[in-house]
Amino acid sequence: MHVTDQDMAALVAGRVLDVPDFPQPGIVFKDLMPLFADGPAFRQVVDGIVAHHGPDSFDVVAGIEARGFVVAAAIAYATGAGVVPIRKAGKLPRAAYSASYSLEYGEATLEVHQDAFMTGQRVLLVDDVLATGGTAGAALDLIVQANGSVAGFSVLLELGFLEGRKRVAPREVHAVLTV
Ligand code: AMP
Repeated sequence: MHVTDQDMAALVAGRVLDVPDFPQPGIVFKDLMPLFADGPAFRQVVDGIVAHHGPDSFDVVAGIEARGFVVAAAIAYATGAGVVPIRKAGKLPRAAYSASYSLEYGEATLEVHQDAFMTGQRVLLVDDVLATGGTAGAALDLIVQANGSVAGFSVLLELGFLEGRKRVAPREVHAVLTV
């Protein structure tokens, strides 16, 4: 069955919970665990992301810790691609590149292993939520620093009012749902 972009957006919209004041006052946390927990819906969304980019357009999927790992692993399994974790500071066991950035609630550093990609390997980056775009920007920089070639970037949910797209520009953002 062909799933339209609208169908995909509805699958996400119906399976996200707003959690007010988490992890701190004033932030509405978008909890996508209900989507992850719904097997048929999650599979349709994963397949839709793959179809959007094309299954042969990337060699490896990079996921941002931690919820991005869930999406990345599913896409990787669906396509036979590998997974590269982009992790929070201090978690990777070997030599890593680091990128620091500000986010909607605080400061953070992301890291990737220096040998994570073969030179020119095409990397699809995925995460759950695009907020201010700091996280995605840092992750994209790390992919380039580690000699990967960015093939695309998808998120399940984009918070449009935070204008994360501008921070990621000129790279394109594929958001399954924008609110
Ligand atoms: P940002 O760097 O501001 O785009 O933040 C994106 C990262 O922080 C993603 O990895 C999200 O998982 C997480 N995040 C930021 N804001 C939210 C939010 N309101 N709800 C859920 N996750 C968020």
